[in-house]
Amino acid sequence: MERKCYFTYRNVKSMTKVQAITTEAPKGGVKFQTVDVEDNGPVELSPMYTGICGTDRGMVTGRLDFAYNPQGQDFIVLGHESICRVKSADSQTGFKAGDLVVPMVRRPGKCINCQAGRQDNCSDGDKKEAGITGKNGFMRESFTDDPEFLVKIDDPSLSRTGVLTEPLKNVVKVFEVVETVSKRSIYASTDSTYHGKKAYVIGTGAEGFLFAMMASEYGFDTRILNRHPVEENRMAICDAFNMEFVDYSKEDRKEKIDLLIDTSGDPATFLKFMRIMNFNSVGIMFGTNGKAPSTEFTGKDIDIMVERNITLAGSVDAAKTHYEKAASYLSRWNARNSRVLSSMITSEKEPSETSVFTDRNPESIKTVIKWK
Ligand code: NAP
Ligand code: ZN
Repeated sequence: MERKCYFTYRNVKSMTKVQAITTEAPKGGVKFQTVDVEDNGPVELSPMYTGICGTDRGMVTGRLDFAYNPQGQDFIVLGHESICRVKSADSQTGFKAGDLVVPMVRRPGKCINCQAGRQDNCSDGDKKEAGITGKNGFMRESFTDDPEFLVKIDDPSLSRTGVLTEPLKNVVKVFEVVETVSKRSIYASTDSTYHGKKAYVIGTGAEGFLFAMMASEYGFDTRILNRHPVEENRMAICDAFNMEFVDYSKEDRKEKIDLLIDTSGDPATFLKFMRIMNFNSVGIMFGTNGKAPSTEFTGKDIDIMVERNITLAGSVDAAKTHYEKAASYLSRWNARNSRVLSSMITSEKEPSETSVFTDRNPESIKTVIKWK
């Protein structure tokens, strides 16, 4: 890694040459190349693993119109899911060499929520997202960052599965939303738990599984659904977390749903299950698919929502506190059954294997890139 300094108007801005996985946003394409990027803070980090999700694939294939390069760059470094090791840090930062950290994706803009550390609830869209909108991501051999946006991972056994902290933090926030909106009605059981209540999670990707694991953790009777059968590796996770897989193309359940979480972004699928939601139930829209076919939302659907006191909510991203809680859930699940948690990571690739952004096999849940 070669380092050089440029003098700018008021302060010293240093640039670093590193190998990185990049795309041109929003056009797409993918390269593993050496780039010159700006330093961002006093903590120097080496990613150990970076996760790949649908957003990275969407950027590489040019399907995400909202993605854009950082100012003054004709590329963006990809990657928003990572587990990193601190290489070096000033002692005042609270970090030291060897610490495990997860860097946060969203960086604040100027709105009141961003200024309060809740850029997950940014109210004017002016925030940036590492590896997606206007800020370089974590798929590079090293980078520097500001301690404010680093989440310390205390459990050394999370040096690989800690890459799931970022996708799981979204789930932690959703369950906080569920608890909050449940207060409008008698939602928990009479013993104040969720035992016996039914949770349905649509979609069997990494987020779907993390939602279903959390629903089981909360005590829900949990089903995870898709419109086709799933491979053996997914069925094994269902068994270990005491949840049931339902191929809804083959069977029609008649039970009432207390908590519905959608990770498909498909309106017809969401409505199909919304119509069997219970009185005082909660539905969460999480998955997005702007290209999904339209469907009809009828007067009868409004009737169902009104008469049953159904709360529907959308949720995006999460705050630092949710990252921290996500890391403690991972520790707990890892201690309980480390084999199952690590089976969520279905393959490990080299940074040069860029075809991973365009190829996908049906067994894949979470593919990671190993950096060192
Ligand atoms: P993923 O691996 O692509 O998972 C999506 C899942 O939905 C897949 O299992 C897919 O099944 C399934 N699916 C699609 N259409 C379906 C349908 N009609 N019925 C049932 N299942 C269906 O993505 P992910 O990483 O788990 O993320 C899930 C979604 O959340 C994505 O849309 C992503 O963009 C979004 N997301 C939202 C946030 C947020 O903050 N709100 C954060 C991260 C991700 P097959 O692939 O087997 O067909
Ligand atoms: Zn904002």
